[in-house]
Amino acid sequence: MPITEEQLIGTKELIALEEAYGAHNYHPLDVVIERAAGAWVYDVEGKRYLDCLAAYSAVNQGHCHPRILEALVEQAKKVTLTSRAFRNAQLPLLYKELHDLTGMEMTLPMNSGAEAVETAVKAARKWGYTKKGIAAGKAEIIVCAGNFHGRTVTVVSFSSDEQYREGFGPFTPGFRIIPFGDAKALRVAITPNTCAFLVEPIQGEAGIVIPPDGFLREAAAICREQRVLLMVDEIQSGLGRTGKLFAYMHEGIRPDVLIVGKALAGGYYPVSAVLASKEILGVFGPGDHGSTFGGNPLACAVARMSLRVLIEEKLVERSAELGAYFLEKLRTLRSPVVKEVRGRGLWIGIELTTEARKYCEALKDEGILCKETHSHIIRIAPPLVIQREEIDWAFERIRKVLE
Ligand SMILES: *Cc1c(COP(=O)(O)O)cnc(C)c1O
Repeated sequence: MPITEEQLIGTKELIALEEAYGAHNYHPLDVVIERAAGAWVYDVEGKRYLDCLAAYSAVNQGHCHPRILEALVEQAKKVTLTSRAFRNAQLPLLYKELHDLTGMEMTLPMNSGAEAVETAVKAARKWGYTKKGIAAGKAEIIVCAGNFHGRTVTVVSFSSDEQYREGFGPFTPGFRIIPFGDAKALRVAITPNTCAFLVEPIQGEAGIVIPPDGFLREAAAICREQRVLLMVDEIQSGLGRTGKLFAYMHEGIRPDVLIVGKALAGGYYPVSAVLASKEILGVFGPGDHGSTFGGNPLACAVARMSLRVLIEEKLVERSAELGAYFLEKLRTLRSPVVKEVRGRGLWIGIELTTEARKYCEALKDEGILCKETHSHIIRIAPPLVIQREEIDWAFERIRKVLE
C-alpha cells in the first residue's frame, strides 16, 4: 500500500491546520479524534480515551451506536430531505412516538438546540398575544441568571454571561433575569405581560448547578396560578442524563413546553424539537415558522432509533444507578483543590478551588476526556452506556490527578 499524504498528517499538522484556517471560537484540548465506539474515542495516533463529556450529552447512547447507524444508513438510501413542502413517511411516526413517550400533545421539529429555544420563545410570545391577551409588542419572558440556551442573538440577549453578549448587540428586548432556584423572585418578577418562564431544571453549562429541592414544583405552581407558561430546556438535562427520562420528573411536575435536542439523535445528526399542548403549538399557522431541514426523514429516522435505544437498552435506569455509584466514589476524593462534588445521574460536577484546565489536560494524558466548565468546574458526563468497571478505571485516574 502506498503511503498517502493523508496518512502522513498527524496530530501536530492537523492542529496547525485547524488553528490556521478555522475561526478560534473554541479552545479545545489538543486531542485529535479519528474514531469512536461506545464510551471510548481514539485519536489519530491510535491512543484511546474514555469520553467523559459525551459531546455535551449529545451521545448519551454511546458513540456510533450500531442500531442508530443502521437506521441512518437505511433511511439515507431511501430519502433524506423532502422539505416540509411535502409530507414524509418518517415525521408522523416520530410525532406519535414523542407523544407516547412524553404525553405532550404536539411536536415542532427543528435542528439545533438554539433553534428550538428560539421556536419556544416565538410560541410563548404568540401564545401571550393570542391567548393571554398581552398588548402587542409587550410580551415578557423570565429567565434565570447563569442560563445557557444557545448562541443566537435573541438567545444571548438574555444571557447573564458578559462574554456571550460582548460585541454582539443590539439585543432582543423582552426578557427578565431572576436568580436561579429562587421561586420568590419568580413570583415578584411576573407581571401581566409575562408569557413564560424559561428554565433549565439543572444548569449544565453553569457547572451542573442543582436548584434547591422543590424549586421547580413551586415554579410550576406559580406559573399555573399566574397563567405563565413553564418552559423547560431539557436539551442537555433530558433523555436520561440525570437518571430520569427528563430532569423535571425528579420533581413530579409537568411543564407546558418541553425543549429537547442533543441526544435526541444520538450524536449522529442535529435534531431538536419543541413539545407542548395544542393550545400552545397551535398558535403557529402555515408560514408562521419553519426550517428547511427541520423534520426531515433522515433526522426523524435517526431520532426514532435514538429514542428506542434509550428505552430498550434501559439507559435512563443505567444513568441513575451508575451515576449514584460514580458520585459516591467521587465524594471520597480527599484533595485540597476539590471544593464540592455534586451531580444527578451520570451528570457530575467537580468544583475546584482553582483553575480546572490543567487538571483536564492531566486527565487527558491519563486517557480521560473531560472539559472544564467555566474556569474551575470539571464536568463528568460520559455516554450512558459506560460500564461499572470503566467508572472504576476512570475513578482511579481522577483520584491520581486530583489527589
Ligand atoms: C447545548 C444547549 C443548547 C443549544 O444547543 P445547540 O444545539 O448547541 O444550539 C441550549 N440549551 C441547553 C441547555 C444546552 O445544553
